[in-house]
Amino acid sequence: MNLILLGAPGAGKGTQAEAISAKLGIPQISTGNMLREAVKNGTELGMKAKAAMDSGALVSDDIVIGILKDRIAEPDAKNGYILDGFPRTVTQAEALDSMGVTIDHVLEIHVEDQRIIDRMSGRRVCVACGASYHVQYKPTKVEGVCDACGGEAAQRADDAPETVLSRLQVYQEKTAPLKAYYEKTGKLLTVEGQEEVADTTKLVFETLGI
Ligand code: ADP
Ligand code: ZN
Repeated sequence: MNLILLGAPGAGKGTQAEAISAKLGIPQISTGNMLREAVKNGTELGMKAKAAMDSGALVSDDIVIGILKDRIAEPDAKNGYILDGFPRTVTQAEALDSMGVTIDHVLEIHVEDQRIIDRMSGRRVCVACGASYHVQYKPTKVEGVCDACGGEAAQRADDAPETVLSRLQVYQEKTAPLKAYYEKTGKLLTVEGQEEVADTTKLVFETLGI
């Protein structure tokens, strides 16, 4: 099963992608996590991506399409995967189509902007493994420490309030048009993001029939 998760930054794509990944045994492929890893390792790609990411802008289509293409060619992606954060522009969606990838479902997690802004301030991401948490809705057992790997769970630079607003704008402008793109193919499913992570997960599983 090949899935795409759509939704504004902070809508909970990463968290739900982790849950689907655990349930179906297929990898979560997060371009955001891959780019952060590249930034952390100071690779050439990371250096190109860093300024755009910190300011809340999108990394160029060429770069992201390149890393995605390599990633889905890896052996663990053979039986399917969950794309989390890709595609984010119509150009990226067209690139995916021309790679010959068949998408089974596109699942949009819908959350109102004001709730997103409230949520982002509490988001924490593991610096080491990319697992995501929220101080209120999905806290780590020990404050600031990742449950999964013991790494540091920290606030991302781009979760600063002024950056969140511009990321929401970028989403409306560049990514929201993908809803119409996939609606035309009959593959778009939408769930309403709930207060509790577990409630959203339940809806997601029901909607996907898994
Ligand atoms: P969020 O969904 O919370 O915005 P991500 O972790 O998915 O966060 O992405 C963080 C940043 O990485 C984005 O703001 C953007 O700069 C960059 N990025 C991730 N995926 C893409 C993509 N498919 N195309 C362009 N830029 C991307
Ligand atoms: Zn971790």
